[in-house]
Amino acid sequence: MCGIIGIVAHTEVNQALYDGLTIQQHRGQDAAGIMTCDAAGRFYLRKDNGLVKDVFHTRHMIRLKGNMGIGHIRYPTAGCSTSAESQPFYVNSPYGIALAHNGNLTNTKLLTDQLFKSDRRHLNTNSDSEVLLNVLAHELQTSAKLQPQPEDIFNAVAQVHKRCKGAYAAVAMIAGVGMLAFRDPYGIRPAVIGYRDTADGRDYMVASESVAIDSQDYHLLRDIEPGECVFIDNQGQFHSQQCADNPIKSPCIFEYVYFARPDSMMDGISVHKSRMRMGTKLAEKITREWPDHDIDVVIPIPDTSRSAALQLSYDLGVIYREGFIKNRYIGRTFIMPGQTQRKKSVRQKLNPIGLEFQGKNVLLVDDSIVRGTTSQQIVQMARDAGAKKVYLASAAPPVRFPNVYGIDMPSPAEFVAHNRDVDHIAEELGVDKLIYQDLADLVAAINKKSEVTCFDTSCFDGDYITGDIDADYLYYIDALRNDNSKQDNQKNNAIIELHNDA
Ligand code: AMP
Repeated sequence: MCGIIGIVAHTEVNQALYDGLTIQQHRGQDAAGIMTCDAAGRFYLRKDNGLVKDVFHTRHMIRLKGNMGIGHIRYPTAGCSTSAESQPFYVNSPYGIALAHNGNLTNTKLLTDQLFKSDRRHLNTNSDSEVLLNVLAHELQTSAKLQPQPEDIFNAVAQVHKRCKGAYAAVAMIAGVGMLAFRDPYGIRPAVIGYRDTADGRDYMVASESVAIDSQDYHLLRDIEPGECVFIDNQGQFHSQQCADNPIKSPCIFEYVYFARPDSMMDGISVHKSRMRMGTKLAEKITREWPDHDIDVVIPIPDTSRSAALQLSYDLGVIYREGFIKNRYIGRTFIMPGQTQRKKSVRQKLNPIGLEFQGKNVLLVDDSIVRGTTSQQIVQMARDAGAKKVYLASAAPPVRFPNVYGIDMPSPAEFVAHNRDVDHIAEELGVDKLIYQDLADLVAAINKKSEVTCFDTSCFDGDYITGDIDADYLYYIDALRNDNSKQDNQKNNAIIELHNDA
């Protein structure tokens, strides 16, 4: 998972890019980068590993000149995480192009081959975003005009859609020409566009989430459509075109379950409201399947599950209480390599309020259960705090299949639901009862007004919407993701970084 932003304005964009990245920091805490372009067509870049607030100091911000710029925050999806692989990426031919990308290409190997052998382009990292940039650059080169027009850009993006498979929401900047943004034909990863009217004209902002637009007093114009490319030229003129033959709006369902901020609108759907409806569906399931339940209190596992837990408690007619207090100065625990470190972090992150548990039958609510490591410890914490019985409800169904479209998920063998039915998962987690959302209910909760055609639900049902995922690819992804390989990657990165420093 990553976050992107791009702005074409009538004043300097460095601060607005920084703020837009900070507000999307939940989408990735691994690396951050900004590239700007000034009136002379010169690019300025700052990128490094770390949080936005740690990567950009005043001295970097001052150097990021210009009224056009793009930015990125990274959450590594697979493989290594060196600062050289942070984004935006840059190529100097044709024109000078910079690109930032959220998603994961699933035919990187083939594209890499094509880029080397036919397109004569050099790749300097293992990043699929560098591949995407070079495919775009090659396609622009092919239609090469000295000053590319909107139709040249749309033609190039149409070719990108033909060549690239997988998930991509990308924003790119062409020196002295303008900024473009596009989504893959399935719209798996999100992107929105907003504007702000100033005395000098209209400023435009593209972002992964609408919250970046609202919070900077821009107005949300709309989602970028699957397959569509929007282009804002350096005169501030807006152009757009559908560049895919058969676009099918099927966004990633996990955005609604976990990733996006609740105050974002995504593909016309309020993330917050969709989570509330997940709570309603869970309450309906409990009422249906367990009418004589003995739940005394509903307690959310902070933070994401709150909207669902609150609505669940309301619909069930059972009191809602905050029972865990989160240390907000500790980062997310999910990406820590190796189980030992991960376990320690969860305990440091959450602490129970004893009196909410003592002598009660508690229903804990989480947005999803992936490895189960978090849930196991939280359940134990609830018991240690004096709970009589501990039940657990998950707003999403069991995660059983790898995500290949840009979400960092562990290897399937590490999922607690791997080769286990619900009773066995409950046993493994140490709960007295486990209630999972049904997939049909999850879809209905999110897609209340049928805003989208379907969702990418692959991590729940193994149905990969792009149709190109086979056993070989899953094996390849798995090899990149299991804990051992993550640790190897970390070692390799440390070595690469040592060499860089030297
Ligand atoms: P666990 O079951 O221990 O793997 O942790 C699951 C929790 O991590 C969920 O409750 C989510 O809040 C969160 N989570 C789910 N998927 C991800 C992900 N891809 N990256 C980071 N956190 C996640």
